[in-house]
Amino acid sequence: MENTNKNRFLDPNVPDEISASIRPRTLTDFIGHETLKQNLSVFISGAKNRGEAMDHVLLYGPPGLGKTTLAHIVANELGANFRATSAPMLTKQGDLAAILTSLEPMDVLFIDEIHRLPTAIEEVLYSAMEDFKLDIMLGEGPSAKSVRIDLPPFTLVGATTRTGLLSNPLRDRFGIDLRLAFYSPDDLAKIIARSANILGSSIDSDGALMLAKSARGTPRIANRLLKRARDFATALGRTDIDANTIKTTLAQLHIDASGLDQIDREYLNTIIKHYAGGPVGIDNLSAALSEPTDTIEDVIEPYLMQLGLIQRTPRGRIVTDAGYKHLGLVK
Ligand code: ADP
Repeated sequence: MENTNKNRFLDPNVPDEISASIRPRTLTDFIGHETLKQNLSVFISGAKNRGEAMDHVLLYGPPGLGKTTLAHIVANELGANFRATSAPMLTKQGDLAAILTSLEPMDVLFIDEIHRLPTAIEEVLYSAMEDFKLDIMLGEGPSAKSVRIDLPPFTLVGATTRTGLLSNPLRDRFGIDLRLAFYSPDDLAKIIARSANILGSSIDSDGALMLAKSARGTPRIANRLLKRARDFATALGRTDIDANTIKTTLAQLHIDASGLDQIDREYLNTIIKHYAGGPVGIDNLSAALSEPTDTIEDVIEPYLMQLGLIQRTPRGRIVTDAGYKHLGLVK
């Protein structure tokens, strides 16, 4: 049962096969991020009490931390319809115009990966977000004319893994800016316990914490590890997910106690062996690892930085003393 697939098991970008049943539907079910939830709850009640559309919300953080989940929750708590799209699906101004003109008052429109919107489409959003007006050009050349259409009040929820790639005019139009950070092992253990309960699996609190520590601070990975541990429990003829099952699961998936997988270790080893520990630029690393730069920057590096195993410097990436130590090496 080797996990040799380059499409890594831990990649939080890979969509869940887990059913919608474990996705939290209310703020109360959303585990962790207490301050963020308290604030969001105030903003939601404010908008509801005034009968207005809530201010636009920008959610940012690495993949798998709950951005889509929170967008659903906002709509649910507001009692509004949820409409979703993703920036790569919007290639023409007309694509966005079609969605905006079909909105109903107070709808929540979710745009995933909003940093990938082409500039021409992003510009359509400016007046839509600010004045609930749609300015579009009809036709081309000398006969082209600009028309302005009224839109119903709506709430845009944008999600991004990179705020740095968002233009200032777009960013400024979000009244609410929420950053999702990696989860603590304790919060992930609660997420695992909740999901196990919904899935009808039995795992004790030590087991949940053990899985949580290998989940890269990411709920999506925590849920995925739980499902795989459940498979191993079945394969081992057990009904509960005990410590041995978890050890087997992590070993078979080549995940170490800090949650690093083969690609993480390959990343660290490449910098150490081929670039004397760094600094090395992202393009060289991308070529050496055969991984797109986006994956390296969004998926691999944030967690390695969080653990203090690497540093990003203006001259490139460096493996820290802790990074060497993690591989049993000395700098
Ligand atoms: P993102 O949009 O940031 O990539 P998602 O919202 O799709 O992440 O979350 C991934 C999965 O993790 C969801 O299916 C959900 O079940 C779970 N999840 C995320 N955040 C939480 C949370 N705070 N509490 C419980 N489960 C969560």
